[in-house]
Amino acid sequence: AEPARDERSFVIIGGGQTGAVAAVALRDEGFAGRIILVGEETHLPYERPPLSKDVLIQPDKAKVTIHGADVYAARAIETRLGRRATAIDRAARIVTLDDGETLAYDRLLIATGARPRPYPLLDALGGGVFTMRTLGDAEALRAAIAPGKRLLVVGGGVIGLEVAASATVLGATVTVIERGDRLMARAAPQPLADALMLMHEARGVRFAFGAALADARRTEGGGFLLTCEDRRSFEGDLIVYGIGVTLNTEPAVAAGLAIDNGIVTDEFGRTSDPAIYAAGDVAHQWHQSLGRHIRQETWQNARVQGAAVAAAMVRDVPCAHELPWYWTDQYQSNFQVAGSPEATDWIRRGDPTAARYTLFGVTDGRIVGAVTVDNGREMRPAKELIASGRPVDLEALRDPKQDLRKLAAAVR
Ligand code: NDP
Repeated sequence: AEPARDERSFVIIGGGQTGAVAAVALRDEGFAGRIILVGEETHLPYERPPLSKDVLIQPDKAKVTIHGADVYAARAIETRLGRRATAIDRAARIVTLDDGETLAYDRLLIATGARPRPYPLLDALGGGVFTMRTLGDAEALRAAIAPGKRLLVVGGGVIGLEVAASATVLGATVTVIERGDRLMARAAPQPLADALMLMHEARGVRFAFGAALADARRTEGGGFLLTCEDRRSFEGDLIVYGIGVTLNTEPAVAAGLAIDNGIVTDEFGRTSDPAIYAAGDVAHQWHQSLGRHIRQETWQNARVQGAAVAAAMVRDVPCAHELPWYWTDQYQSNFQVAGSPEATDWIRRGDPTAARYTLFGVTDGRIVGAVTVDNGREMRPAKELIASGRPVDLEALRDPKQDLRKLAAAVR
């Protein structure tokens, strides 16, 4: 017999990692109605992690497309690329796009993500000032960087450091200007920030801390001069800034959905309107086992929430969670961070001079976070130790001769 036809439409606004994963997952979860993915950029959804790395350094090898057109076609996923949702009519359940098209929905997913937080002082300078979020941003920066160029990086976060590494590899001279007193304050523990800084300094990158910009202007030579409140000044040919993000909540705000540090969702990924879901950077999602809402800006979160919310939309199941995790690649090194960066103590496993090592963040005798430095093979057992929530023998943990997988198995 013919399978029952599903007359419903599920619409996704946002063509990033979350939207792409969710679109495919909706179909793979068995949803048989229409799936329409709306993306503001003209490209099919792509991977952002390579933008600040391979897309700058070795563009021929960079692979960015998440799914080829065949994958969407095989699942009858309709796309509206280069289109922005301008309004959500909750009563009529209609999304309006910028070209006037209207899309009726039975369930809607908002996965609109974020954009670089603007820095008006720098934006006013015009050309030669770059941000890093889209493929277009990466291509523009790649065209501007050349050996000998002096690059001023404003913001010592993960964007700033990855761009600093790539630009250094490309032969630019880099200065990182950070307002705070340390690198990656939002997401990395202090010992990791210290290790990153040493690595960059060994490659000639200079750092300025406590550097709050007061003035920015063009020089007669066509470069830029940035001056801090304390009169320190920096001259360069190009500027990249990464000072965090602004969430793309506008359509949700206009539709009257509950907003608090992002679009507030419940354990099913539903917003304050049960027909509308949110996921990814833009969602402040209820985490049942933590007993609070969390908002994450990571590739992992986009993938996990994209899939989980799709399952919730199809089967009304609560969203699954994973331990927070991210990585950053700078120069030839790989750094991974799991769990909370906010432990009170960080202990190092292994020989203090070893190039590859793991750090454990300990609070009250329990491991709450871990960092691997070129030591990704220890990440899985480290995550298990964090997830167990059980006290661990810290002396055994410090000893690199003890197999971490056995220590993890012991607390399972
Ligand atoms: P981050 O929040 O990581 O870092 C922003 C940095 O800029 C902080 O160090 C902040 O320090 C500093 N800052 C803020 N305001 C100013 C200012 N006015 N002047 C100077 N410094 C300032 O954001 P990014 O922009 O680096 O990254 C954007 C997004 O991209 C994030 O969601 C990030 O997670 C994601 N991303 C993730 C990657 C990864 O996981 N590998 C790689 C690249 C991007 P403070 O506010 O303390 O002064």
